Amino acid sequence: MNYCLQGHDRDNGVQEMLISLLPDEPHDRVSELPEDAEGCRSLAWEEDGRILSRAEIRMGERRTQAQFESVVPRSADGEERKRILTYTVKTAVYRALLPLLDHKPVWGSLTGVKPAKPARLAIREGMSREGLDAWLRDHYDVSESRRRLCIRSAEYAMETEDGLLPRETQLYLGIPFCPAKCSYCSFVSNDMARWGHMIEPYTRALLQEIEAAGALLRENRIPLGSVYMGGGTPTTLNEDQLERVLSAVDRHFDRTVCREFTVEAGRPETITGEKLDIMTAHGVSRISINPQTMNDAVLRGVGRNHTAADIENCYRMARQKGGFLINMDLIAGLPGDDDAGLLESVRRVAALEPDNITIHCLARKRGARLYFGPTGQLPPETLDACYTHLEGLGYEPYYLYRQKYMAGGLENVGFCKPGTASHYNICMMEELSDVIALGSGGVSKLCSENGRRIHRIANPKYPKEYIERIDSIVQEKRRPPDGREA
Ligand code: SF4
Repeated sequence: MNYCLQGHDRDNGVQEMLISLLPDEPHDRVSELPEDAEGCRSLAWEEDGRILSRAEIRMGERRTQAQFESVVPRSADGEERKRILTYTVKTAVYRALLPLLDHKPVWGSLTGVKPAKPARLAIREGMSREGLDAWLRDHYDVSESRRRLCIRSAEYAMETEDGLLPRETQLYLGIPFCPAKCSYCSFVSNDMARWGHMIEPYTRALLQEIEAAGALLRENRIPLGSVYMGGGTPTTLNEDQLERVLSAVDRHFDRTVCREFTVEAGRPETITGEKLDIMTAHGVSRISINPQTMNDAVLRGVGRNHTAADIENCYRMARQKGGFLINMDLIAGLPGDDDAGLLESVRRVAALEPDNITIHCLARKRGARLYFGPTGQLPPETLDACYTHLEGLGYEPYYLYRQKYMAGGLENVGFCKPGTASHYNICMMEELSDVIALGSGGVSKLCSENGRRIHRIANPKYPKEYIERIDSIVQEKRRPPDGREA
């Protein structure tokens, strides 16, 4: 939808709202919108200590408009005024669009990718649970089920935050290789048929970075709270490479206070008994075995070369080895899947009794082979039925995030059996502590002001560049980041 702004500059706010409510179509800003053209005109002005905004929308033959206003406190500084203007403009667009939609968005006008974060900050500032519930309902029109998800995730985050050690940091290791690329994936995952020859030089470069990052943390007495090895598919490393990487983590990091060590085993065809033994020997405490769906035809359709039975066999092998918490990922909205198929996948996975189950909603991403129109493919009621099933089995939602262009404008939710919530996932998602990320595509995050300010330091995106630049990356890792006490 084309849109134009009059009297304000909150371009991002208007675009975010349009993407959230109409994810199927492109949204372009134009300088003017003729009276009879389709599109959205967003106006704002100030009057008597208030900011007012009106949105006028034409879609086909239908026209709507809505006006919204906010009081600006006398004490508001420039940043606060901008925040109020953005909220006012977005709310007017939301209210004007609502009558034109064929469904009521479960997240209302809330558009951020981390809905539990403002909820947590509001509780920290003294808001009661009831007050927060009313705030999410009245200010953002969030549905009852999503308010509950949001508040529960905020509670998990606060519990985790209260237990953090001073300066605690989490460690991420990225292995950007996969057996073959899934059609919906935009991640820089390099399929082994084409890029397998790079795994060994990549491993050697990663070992250097592990050594440098370990020295940085040790010398500065920074406690390590968790380790997460993700990708890609880390178990594309062969047994020898996996052994070397995990040994390097043992050697260079003090894990005395480390609460969790996760390896995303991902695809069953990459998991062997020997690799599981290596992980056990090095203290890996949590693995992820990801079916995405338990429907074989859907798996084939998205380019995954395994079956649901492979997943079940792999899961049983991991359980027999013992000692791991196991997470399993599912994706709602895969092409060829339907509501009944999703529910069946959830039931089948839950019957295995993994400790954690994460349900993602398919998100359209630049760089993925698969292009789809998400709206309407995934009714929220289907997800609600999945959530209800899991909660009936004793799983609790513990972390939550959203992405742009998500199927149905929904969310990704991690569920856990009591006492098995992933420390890393909560810290990372809620930006509770620093994360040092190693490997190509790794983005280290330094958090300050209770997660309100995030400083990001990115490694090169592609393995080739990472390998070529490893000496300078290591040099960089040897000194504490600018402006921070070591
Ligand atoms: S296994 Fe995961 S990272 Fe690899 S291509 Fe598939 S979705 Fe992407």
